[in-house]
Amino acid sequence: MYNRKFNFSAGPAVLPVPVLERARDEMLNFENSGMSVMEMSHRSAVFEGILARAENGMRRVMNIPDEYAVLFLQGGASLQFAMVPMNLYQPGKPVDMLHTGTWTKKAIVELGKIAEYRLAASTEADKFRRVPRLDEIDLNPDASYVHMASNNTIAGTEWHVFPNTGDVPLVADMSSDILSKPIDVSKFGVIFAGAQKNIGPAGVTVVIIRKDLAERAGESLPTMLNYRTHISKNSMFNTPPTWGIYLIALVMEWLEAEGGLSAIENRNKEKAALLYDAIDRNDFYYCPVETESRSLMNVVFRVRGDDAALEAKFVAEATAAGLLNLKGHRSVGGLRASIYNAQPMAGVQALVDFMSAFAERYG
Ligand SMILES: *Cc1c(COP(=O)(O)O)cnc(C)c1O
Repeated sequence: MYNRKFNFSAGPAVLPVPVLERARDEMLNFENSGMSVMEMSHRSAVFEGILARAENGMRRVMNIPDEYAVLFLQGGASLQFAMVPMNLYQPGKPVDMLHTGTWTKKAIVELGKIAEYRLAASTEADKFRRVPRLDEIDLNPDASYVHMASNNTIAGTEWHVFPNTGDVPLVADMSSDILSKPIDVSKFGVIFAGAQKNIGPAGVTVVIIRKDLAERAGESLPTMLNYRTHISKNSMFNTPPTWGIYLIALVMEWLEAEGGLSAIENRNKEKAALLYDAIDRNDFYYCPVETESRSLMNVVFRVRGDDAALEAKFVAEATAAGLLNLKGHRSVGGLRASIYNAQPMAGVQALVDFMSAFAERYG
């Protein structure tokens, strides 16, 4: 009815239609305030209500314990690559890094400017086609913290079991799989995620931090880069990304209406199974990722023989058929379908049907 196409973008990505409809309906006059959320003061009582809805929504959906703060910041997950070590690194206690691809590499570059670190595990030798097995990880019990990316958006891998880091805080970049399944937040020191994949629109970064860890930072840190600033001011030290926070409130309410994270996880498993099965079943395609490490969010696949011209044709014909953004990341090539929470089963079914017809034509 809106002529919407199926959007497989890795981010910014598809949002739930009921969320967009509600935002549309409330756009001109939000709850009789006489204005849109975009136009109102962040210090107004109306906006404070929206902020509380977003925070409480996240707390309910993810079951976030009280000793954690939920922050709505800016600067993307990319700023967190620097902000985490600025706040959590303790000199003489190198950070343990679990290196699984492009996004941990970017975190390593920032670490190199701020802290000492060591690689507690890396799958670079396997071209990041899997995440480390738990028995390959060499953790230092005296590390400042352990950094990982729970889902590798570009490589198409995901951690399905998390390492136990004991008393060492585990910091997870969950940008591309947050809210895709229930997780035990109490196992993490910090969880951060750019909103634009599974939480809401671009422009907000969610940081979930165990509050005691924010006490590590020295007073010399710039005010905006200190987590304590944002905890004490409830994400309102400066003007927060108000529109994005509003959308997050709506997405949380949508998730609850859909049955919460267990229901979403089941649906995500079904969608991923349908797509991986279509890839594995057809000799025309293959998935470069080791089976146990396959991501339920970003499905990376190739045409056999890695024929780049044929893959370009795949992308062009899929686009013409209303299946958008299937090109793999420019750094790795190939094809990628991002099937976040808001991707309907109908989108995955349409992709699978297209794949089978394309293989018939060119196989
Ligand atoms: C997209 C992504 C990022 C980068 O997020 P920005 O908000 O653009 O800074 C970082 N990590 C992962 C795992 C991502 O998927």
